[in-house]
Amino acid sequence: MFASANKLTYYIKMTTQTPEERKELMRQIKDEVVALKKSPLYEFRMESKNLPVIGEGSHFAKIMFIGEAPGRNEAKTGRPFCGAAGKILDELLQSAGIKREEVYVTNIVKDRPPQNRDPLPEEIEIYGPFLDRQIEIIQPKIIATLGRYAMSYIMPKFDLEFELEPISKNHGKVFAVPSEALAKLGYKNQDVKVVPLYHPAVAVYNSHTLDQLKKDFEVLKDL
Ligand code: URA
Repeated sequence: MFASANKLTYYIKMTTQTPEERKELMRQIKDEVVALKKSPLYEFRMESKNLPVIGEGSHFAKIMFIGEAPGRNEAKTGRPFCGAAGKILDELLQSAGIKREEVYVTNIVKDRPPQNRDPLPEEIEIYGPFLDRQIEIIQPKIIATLGRYAMSYIMPKFDLEFELEPISKNHGKVFAVPSEALAKLGYKNQDVKVVPLYHPAVAVYNSHTLDQLKKDFEVLKDL
């Protein structure tokens, strides 16, 4: 990911992107996902009259939240985290004093899997590169993963696979991305953190996890 033939041209391009340029790059991603007939989830999207869910929020966000895949409400509206898990996310953001419009919220998989089942490895493989491009465009200083799928996808990408543990151990911890990984990924920012968090859906019926999530979200304020 983040391959660039000419590092200097790439660096200049990344540091001078205007809001319009970022919007255009995101639009290209959307167009490609909309036309992604080779996806195993394409047929289900068409049959169910669902929409792909690309992401939402500021293209200059300091924090990017990455979930798993859209659920029913998300696929009906094309907006990430707008159903029950989204309500929890909103509550968590509010409790940490973070405005939703200032962050960027997306998922690894951009189409809803049938029956809200877990994403399959081949689905993560097909949609992952779109997420990589979104990270490349926004270059968030904090990448907050929601749930084990996003954690397991992101940590190895940022050379943090040696820190991979079950989400029950890693939630709320702050991992500084090694500078060599950032250079390799074409990041201009040298101070990037990955923060694995529980998925907000876990807290829909479990107030203990909600309290834990609130506590974990507090760390985002201080980064
Ligand atoms: N769960 C996710 O992982 N993503 C959404 O957008 C909604 C629910």
